[in-house]
Amino acid sequence: MARNLQKLQKLIVVGHGAAGLAAALSAAEQARSRDWSVEITLLEKSREGEAGGNTRWSPSYMRLDAPDRIDPGFEQDMQHASDGLADRSYFRILAENAVATVGWLQTHGVEFVTPVYYLSAGPARIQPVGGGNAIVEKLAAAAQRAGVKICYETALNGLVMTEGHRVRGVETQSSDGVAEIAGKNHVVRKHDFIFLPPGVEHAISNSGLVDLRSQRSAPVVLVYPYGIVVDQDGRRFFDEGSGLVHETWEVFARDIHFSRAGSIAYAVLDSRLFDIEGFGRAIRSEVPPYWAETLEDLAPRIGIPAGALRETVDAYNAAATGDVTRFDATRCDGLKTAGTLKPPKSNWARPITKPPFLAYPLVGAIAYTFGGLATNEKAEVLGERGPMPGLYAAGETTGHFYGTAPNAVSVLRALVFGKIAGREAIEFIRTRADQD
Ligand SMILES: Cc1cc2nc3c(=O)[nH]c(=O)nc-3n(C[C@H](O)[C@H](O)[C@H](O)COP(=O)(O)OP(=O)(O)OC[C@H]3O[C@@H](n4cnc5c(N)ncnc54)[C@H](O)[C@@H]3O)c2cc1C
Repeated sequence: MARNLQKLQKLIVVGHGAAGLAAALSAAEQARSRDWSVEITLLEKSREGEAGGNTRWSPSYMRLDAPDRIDPGFEQDMQHASDGLADRSYFRILAENAVATVGWLQTHGVEFVTPVYYLSAGPARIQPVGGGNAIVEKLAAAAQRAGVKICYETALNGLVMTEGHRVRGVETQSSDGVAEIAGKNHVVRKHDFIFLPPGVEHAISNSGLVDLRSQRSAPVVLVYPYGIVVDQDGRRFFDEGSGLVHETWEVFARDIHFSRAGSIAYAVLDSRLFDIEGFGRAIRSEVPPYWAETLEDLAPRIGIPAGALRETVDAYNAAATGDVTRFDATRCDGLKTAGTLKPPKSNWARPITKPPFLAYPLVGAIAYTFGGLATNEKAEVLGERGPMPGLYAAGETTGHFYGTAPNAVSVLRALVFGKIAGREAIEFIRTRADQD
């Protein structure tokens, strides 16, 4: 039977996504392994059937070679993705704990597969069967079995602090009104207020180019390198073939969202797309493309001037003079346009001449935010004077990404540091109880 500490200790976890659920479950397991009795409450602002935040909607790809193996170059990749700004110790801990955390999820019933990578090569990834929703469901069920009390439709309004900058409790909002859970609570905080600094475009990562018309989650359309992309005036504006899709989608999505009229663009292709083996893997939209037998008929369907589209395609075709037998959708094939074309197209430059002609409307989808809380390798929140006692954070609400979100790392880090936060919070409670 769990040993009661002198006073009933409470732990509050906020958020029912990957980070919050990992924290709550790991805390419950840590308390049980120590035979300590701690009341763990998870606050979630959504209704039960809608809880799960980004995690629930995300495919939750994770950058591991296999469930039991992470690439030895992982930490180096993180430095590269952040232009050397990433906190080395944070990503070292992430790499060191990734496999064990995935194993922990497996013990709670989450199964993993190695998905086929869209069309082109890219870093190896694993994926939970059922995507992020499986993580939410399995961890929520396990947390409840382990005694975590989940309060849906209960939002965290803010932290209640002492003058000494210690967390004294939380203020919550629910249909019962505003309440304060006060006393000697210790808080694992997940998803309170994300501070978006001035220059908000730098705080948002548009990580996907998605079909505007789709009702699906993450309906990416990643065949744009095999055609051209035009704005509402029918003009090209970037090098569609400047890299593999996972290297270009974020920068293109951000460009479309922040710099193009109407925050929209159109991928224009011809029926050679259908000759690419497995092309459907790169299209997660359920809506077929606009199509027509001529470019002049296609243009009005997507609302752009026919003359301009014709001019753009003619100019592109005139420069697409390379040997088309070199075309290889799965890697950078070096099939580039002649030097006269501006902007150039550096790979996969085949002429667009074979009807029917196709178009997908593309918008940038927001999948990550930057500018979150600073945390250390124990998931403690860092204030101006160092770690804030009893306050932990993990997942999307924390910082650590700079300029670009490294591909397939967000859910993984939410889980790894959520698990660490839960364990550390219990140890913190224990230390404090011993001091009382
Ligand atoms: C479409 C899409 C695709 C993605 N694909 C991938 C991918 O393949 N791989 C990857 O690594 N990442 C991906 N991401 C990013 C990834 O999903 C997130 O970074 C990750 O799920 C964050 O987990 P989290 O627990 O920190 O936050 P969330 O999953 O967003 O959970 C936060 C929870 O907190 C609750 N909450 C918020 N505020 C309060 C409050 N004040 N009081 C109470 N509750 C509150 C929310 O309702 C929510 O349930 C994708 C994101 C999107 C949107």
